[in-house]
Amino acid sequence: MKKVKHCPFCAELISPKAIICRHCHADVTKVSRGKKGQFVRVSIKMKDKMYQGDLFIPPHLNRLSDVINDGRPFISIINARETSEGGETQIGFLVINKNVIEWIRLIEGKPAAGRKGRQLYEISTIQEKG
Ligand SMILES: [Zn+2]
Repeated sequence: MKKVKHCPFCAELISPKAIICRHCHADVTKVSRGKKGQFVRVSIKMKDKMYQGDLFIPPHLNRLSDVINDGRPFISIINARETSEGGETQIGFLVINKNVIEWIRLIEGKPAAGRKGRQLYEISTIQEKG
C-alpha cells in the first residue's frame, strides 16, 4: 500500500511528499511543525437543505474568517450530514464554493481560537434563481 497522509487543509489523503494538495490546491509546505490547527463546527443553509460538519482551520490561520479570506476558492467540510425534508443523510465530505456564501455568524462559543467543538458557525448561502 502506498504511504499517504491527510492534507492539513482539507483532510483528504495526499502523498507525504506532496507540495500542493491535489484536492484543495493548498500549499502543504506552509504548515509549521508542531502546530495542529483546529476544527470548528459549521451549520450551512443551502436551499431547502441544511448541512452540518467540521471545518478545519489550518495552524497558520486563527479564525474561520481567515479561511474565508485565504484566497482558495473552496471550503472543505468533513463529517458532514445533510438534513432535508426526507431526513438525515451522512455525506462525509462536502466542498463549498466561497462565491455562494452570503453570510457567516458565530452562534456558539467565542470568536477567538478555541478547541474542537467549541465554536459553532452558521453559514448562509445565496439562493439560486430559477
Ligand atoms: Zn487539501
